[in-house]
Amino acid sequence: MIRLMTDSPEFYHDLSDVLRLFYGDVSVSLESGEPVFEHHFTEADGRWTDVWACGGRRAALSRPAVAGDPLEAKRLRKRQIKLALYDLLKDLTGMRPPWGSLTGIRPTRLLYEAMEAGMALDEAVEHVQSAFDVSPDRAALLGEIARMQAGIREAAPGQFDLYIGIPFCRTRCSYCSFSSGEIGDGRLVAPYVGALLREIELCRALMDEAGLQLRAGYVGGGTPTAIPCGDLERILAAAQAAFPGAVEWTVEAGRPDTIDEEKLRMLRDRGVGRISVNPQTFSDETLRRIGRAHTGADTIRAYELARSLGFDDINMDIIAALPGETTADFSRTLDVIERLAPDSVTVHALAIKRSSRLHEQLAVAGEGYGQIEREGAAEMIAAARSRLMAGGWRPYYLYRQKYMAGNLENVGYAKPGKACLYNIGNMEETVSVLALGAGAISKWLFDRNLRIERAPNVRNIEEYIRRVDEMVARKRAVIFGSNPLEADR
Ligand code: SF4
Repeated sequence: MIRLMTDSPEFYHDLSDVLRLFYGDVSVSLESGEPVFEHHFTEADGRWTDVWACGGRRAALSRPAVAGDPLEAKRLRKRQIKLALYDLLKDLTGMRPPWGSLTGIRPTRLLYEAMEAGMALDEAVEHVQSAFDVSPDRAALLGEIARMQAGIREAAPGQFDLYIGIPFCRTRCSYCSFSSGEIGDGRLVAPYVGALLREIELCRALMDEAGLQLRAGYVGGGTPTAIPCGDLERILAAAQAAFPGAVEWTVEAGRPDTIDEEKLRMLRDRGVGRISVNPQTFSDETLRRIGRAHTGADTIRAYELARSLGFDDINMDIIAALPGETTADFSRTLDVIERLAPDSVTVHALAIKRSSRLHEQLAVAGEGYGQIEREGAAEMIAAARSRLMAGGWRPYYLYRQKYMAGNLENVGYAKPGKACLYNIGNMEETVSVLALGAGAISKWLFDRNLRIERAPNVRNIEEYIRRVDEMVARKRAVIFGSNPLEADR
C-alpha cells in the first residue's frame, strides 16, 4: 500500500492513477502505507506551485495561477499536480510510460483540442508529445489516427448510433469483465429477447419524438451469435424496422464456435455488412488456458465460410500478452492474420480487470499485474503495429483502459474504406449512442458535444428483464432533461 500525504486530497483518484502507471495495480491510501509520497501546494504571487517528495527525491512544478472559469481552473490544477508527481516517479523509477503522464483521458481528445485551438495536425502531435511526455511513436500513432478519421469522425446533426447488447457466451473467458453470463441451459434467452424487443419498441417512440435518425448500428455482447439464429434475426428485424436507414450494421460473431452457415446467411440477408470473427490468438494451448472452447482452426473455418458467403468487411480481434504467451506465439498469430487478410484488425493489450477470473487466479498465485507486464507486451504491440502497417492496414481508433499490460493501448486497424463508423463515433464521442440491453450504457451529447450524459441499464440480466420500462425512462430523462429542445443530438 502506498501512502499519499497531500494537501489536495480532492485529486486522490487522479493521483492514484498516476502511481499505477509506475507500480501497477497497487492500493493507495491517504492515511497509511509505505512508501510515502508527500505533497504541498501553494498559491502565492500569482503562481501555483506543487512540490512532491519521496525517498529523498523531490520534484516541483510552478505556473501562473488561473482565475475565472472554476472548471477550467480545476482542470489545469489537476494537470499540474499530476505532472509534478509523474516527474518524481520517473526520477524514482527510471521508467518512462509510453503514454507519459496521460491517465483517464482519451489521447485523441487532447490532439483534437489542440487542433481546435488552431494548431495544424503535426503541430498538435508535437504539443501532445511535449506537454504530457508521450513517447514519439505514440504521438505519431495519434497523428495517423487523426488522418484516418478525417471526414468520418463527425456524424451529421440529428443522427445517433445504436448499440444492442446480447450478454450471453458459451463459456466465460478468464480475462472477461463484461456483463455477460454463460448461456447455460438457455432459459434466460427467450425472456431476454422479449425484453430487448420491448426496449427497441419503446425507444423507437423516443427517437421519433426527438426527431433523430440512425447512422450506425452495432450488435455486441457477450457473443450475439451465441443465441439461436431466429432470436437474433427477430432482434435485428425489430431494430431495423424501428430505426431505418443506417449506413452501417456490425454484428460481433465473436466466438467461431457460435457461427454457422444459417446465421451468416441470415446476417447477410438482413444487410449486416460488417462482422467480427475473433481469434484472440491462434494458439490452441492459450485458447484452452483462457477458457475459450474453440481452436485456431475453428476461427479459420468460420472466417473462410463468411468470406465464401460474400462478407467483405470482417474484423478480427487479437490480444497481446495473454497469459503464458510468448512473443513467438504472438508472432505466429500475426502470421495467420496476414495470410487471412481480414478487412480490419483490433489489437488489444490484455487488461486484467478486477472482476475477471484471471485477476483472481493471479492473486491466488501471488502474481500481479507486473507479472503480465514483463511478458513482452510492448514488444508484441510494436510487432503488430509494424506488420499491420506494412500489410496496408492503418490505425483508425484507439482507447486505453485501466490495468492494461504495460500501460499500452487498444488500436483498431483497417484497410482503406473499412474503418467502422460506430467505433470511431463511440470512442471519439462525436455522436450520441442509444444503448439497449443489460449493462448497456447510453451516452447522450449536448452543447455541441461538450457535455455528455449517461443512462446506464442495469447489468444483471434478470433485473434488466424485470425493469426494462424503467431503463427506457432513464433514457428519456437524460435525452429530454428539463427541456426536450436541449437534446440537440
Ligand atoms: S467472448 Fe467476450 S464477452 Fe464472452 S466471455 Fe469471452 S471476453 Fe467475455
